[in-house]
Amino acid sequence: MKRTGLTLTAAALMVFVMAVGVFAQTPAFHDIRPGYGVTGIGWLSDYHPPLKGTPGDTRVYFLDSGVPGGTAYVQGGTHGNEIAGQMAAIILVERAIPTAGRLIVVPYGNNANIDYNDGYRDDVPSSFTIEVEGGLQREFRYGSRRTNPAYESQPDPEVYVTPDGGVHEGEEIRNLNRVHPGKPDGTLTEQIAYAIRRLLIEENVDVAFDLHEAGVTSRLANTLVAHPKGMDAAVFAILDLSAQGIHINLEPSREEFRGLSHREWGDHTQALSFLTETANPGQSPDIVNPDVINDPVNPLHDRVGRQLAMVRAVLDATALLGVPPVTYDGVPTYADLVRDGLSPWLNAPTALP
Ligand SMILES: [Zn+2]
Repeated sequence: MKRTGLTLTAAALMVFVMAVGVFAQTPAFHDIRPGYGVTGIGWLSDYHPPLKGTPGDTRVYFLDSGVPGGTAYVQGGTHGNEIAGQMAAIILVERAIPTAGRLIVVPYGNNANIDYNDGYRDDVPSSFTIEVEGGLQREFRYGSRRTNPAYESQPDPEVYVTPDGGVHEGEEIRNLNRVHPGKPDGTLTEQIAYAIRRLLIEENVDVAFDLHEAGVTSRLANTLVAHPKGMDAAVFAILDLSAQGIHINLEPSREEFRGLSHREWGDHTQALSFLTETANPGQSPDIVNPDVINDPVNPLHDRVGRQLAMVRAVLDATALLGVPPVTYDGVPTYADLVRDGLSPWLNAPTALP
């Protein structure tokens, strides 16, 4: 009897340890080296405490100029395989020196898709490296479009209906850009979306960006999507970009785009909301063994340059139209990145800006 009791106790202990193991998952950490412009670092869970300690929590970087102006929010990594957005956000954290208003930057918007390959293709990397000053290889992850299902407590439904009635395929319940504006008591992915909405509201964000990539022949490649509230500014921005030799398409955020950031952030918060798209060969189904870093037509540094140029052009345009300004120095232009690549714009142990 005693032995049975011990065995049962051991079994119960194992179940307990496994359960604790599940709940003890922590957010992925990344090689980000904040520059002098960063005045504070928080967590997404500061806006929704149940995210604390989960794989859905992620770092929030504040760059406050101390000079009156507006607040801009820049988010990369909604989709973990769309690395130009993540790298553009990282360059802002490492290099931007704000001169009016403040920037809030989240490089890994959905941190719960970054350690996972969703199986749609096996010829893309799980990480990549960029050599910076001093020969240091900095490593960054290449994740997937959707949240790792191991982090969700329920299987995907047959059909997913967003909080505002949009209908999507079941697996899209793990796609951060289908679950906005999120739910405080929803799935992990819906709670991430909810926390972002709370951040936008509580920080009184004026202009919000969600940085993405698309396949090279997708209609969305090299596109700026604008909520109707920001369409005037988007038109100005497109003209500004064109004058710089950067050709970007413009697409309106339509009513039927329920669950997408540009639509729901614009509808549910005070922010003007924009979504950027560059052309990643890793998202083209017809390109086998894509080179997501050094592709001759769409290399990563060119895509990052376009992302940063779109953010800059929209912020200049919104300021022109009366939104409190957000300005910063220290960030490379598109021409700088085309000329120099990414390496000189990422921090190394030997040199801070
Ligand atoms: Zn995307």
